[in-house]
Amino acid sequence: MIKELSEFGKPICERKYGEWNHVALKEEFISIDIVIDSAGNFQKFELFEKKSTIAEALTSKKGSARLLLDKAEEVLCCGGEKSKSKHTLFLSKLKLFQDVASLAPVIAFYGNNKSTGFEKALSDFENAIPEKNRNGNIGFRLQLEGIRIHEKAEVRREIIAVYESNKKNASRRKCSVCEQTEYPVEDEPHGMIKNVPDGKSSGCALVSYNASAFESYELKGNDNSTICANCARTYVEGLSALFSEGVKFKNKKNKDDILYSYRWPRRRSANYGLDTAILFCTRNNKPLPEIDQLEAPNADEVARMIESVTSGNVNDTHYIELEQLYSCSLSGAAARIAVRDWIETSLGHFRKSIAHWFKDIAIEKYDGDLKKIVIHYAPLYDLAKSCQRKNSDGGYDKDDTSTARVASSLWKAALQNIPIPLWILTKVLQRARLDKYGVTAERAALIKLILNRNKNGGDFMMTENSVQEERPVAYVCGQIFAKLENMQYYAAAGERNAGIRERYFTYTMTSPAAAFGRLFDLNSKHYKKIKNEKPGLAVTLDKELQELVKDVDINKMPATFSLEQKGQFAIGYYHQKQAQFANIKPK
Ligand SMILES: [Zn+2]
Repeated sequence: MIKELSEFGKPICERKYGEWNHVALKEEFISIDIVIDSAGNFQKFELFEKKSTIAEALTSKKGSARLLLDKAEEVLCCGGEKSKSKHTLFLSKLKLFQDVASLAPVIAFYGNNKSTGFEKALSDFENAIPEKNRNGNIGFRLQLEGIRIHEKAEVRREIIAVYESNKKNASRRKCSVCEQTEYPVEDEPHGMIKNVPDGKSSGCALVSYNASAFESYELKGNDNSTICANCARTYVEGLSALFSEGVKFKNKKNKDDILYSYRWPRRRSANYGLDTAILFCTRNNKPLPEIDQLEAPNADEVARMIESVTSGNVNDTHYIELEQLYSCSLSGAAARIAVRDWIETSLGHFRKSIAHWFKDIAIEKYDGDLKKIVIHYAPLYDLAKSCQRKNSDGGYDKDDTSTARVASSLWKAALQNIPIPLWILTKVLQRARLDKYGVTAERAALIKLILNRNKNGGDFMMTENSVQEERPVAYVCGQIFAKLENMQYYAAAGERNAGIRERYFTYTMTSPAAAFGRLFDLNSKHYKKIKNEKPGLAVTLDKELQELVKDVDINKMPATFSLEQKGQFAIGYYHQKQAQFANIKPK
């Protein structure tokens, strides 16, 4: 995973650093310039909006100061006693580079011209810079020059040279990512990643071993992870990009009330748990429209995707898509990042998986507005939500945190075309029994998906619509149940009292033989009632019921259903109901 993140980060580093793409240099921010003349005399402070700049790389600030660019405590020693040691570090770093010609004015600022240089700047600082702006980085600039001293090519070259010569003494162990020994594996944090859900605002570290529990085999700190400085840099850059490249856009409500929200092209969160972010990308950062379809399917687009994969040729024979798709789900835990899941698959396999996904979740649904049956493709998150517990008032129970786990499982299954854990089937069947909306299209789609991907229920494949050919007993039982409910509906002539679903659905699912005995007794009463009022309708309904009943031996109904059979029962019930909706004739 680190290897891939590192590959992903490489071009980002190249774009960002250009010719200065080296591990010794790093992007930093600056908001104050100290302007001096060539003799080191202080001229003025210049305060501006935070800007990006490239400076010496420090992965950890503890015990070190950055060359020519740092906070006020280091640069100006203005923070009382405790800043003295920081300032000393800053000066000794300068001393290390004192032979660099470009640094001469700064050396004079702190040395020969101290009274008109450093001391004057220090006394001026509090007047010139408002307190709230004193936290940014400070750099040096020569009067009349546009470039800062730390940005000069000569200085950067020297930073790199010093880094390389120090490195000669460093350990020569192989990097576990790039398998090179060129850069040392350092005992330092690899860099912080911002915007991790539930993480610290200052950032989180993905790899960090700062507790002694992680030190083993006499290896210190990050020696355990053996990632070289260069790879550490590129993976941190890659991961940061995944977390941060959101597009801010205006959600204009009205003139005075402008809301901003973010759209993350390669990140999903919230729906997968408040503490979790799902990130995805391809190495070359290709657009992935299939992901949008997962979340908001468009029937025409989905049909096109299924068609292009089933006709096969695009992905199989013309060319092989070698590019890989990566997805990881991460959670912040204080200053660390916990990796929940890592998915790696080829783009070709990913596209096929998405097409399979839609085939597996496709379900027919009676559309009351269009007055016809349509194929329904539910958004991934709606499927997960259909498993969430509800309160007695009908609202979702916020304490049921499993929805995020269901969503993550479905995400993984969609991307990789793999089975769904059976505990989700238990969960969705429970909701189908207890919720007043019963077996909704989303629940039926989810049950169908799980059954088709876990063939424990035999080889029978659930289809999107009702079947009348050879089918499992539990499925037929579901159809019969829907028909009996249908007859009760006509017998009650629209009166709304507790229907047989509310009273018998759970019972039938758990003890089919016993329940059907009762249901058929009840039905003969309903049948008599309809026959008295509408003899023609009674004949039709009974004929339809007999059509279903002939396929099972009602005297030998199973005493119980297995988990998979319960799923088949629910689908049979759902399919039959949709078909009945579609057959309702206007009265
Ligand atoms: Zn490496």
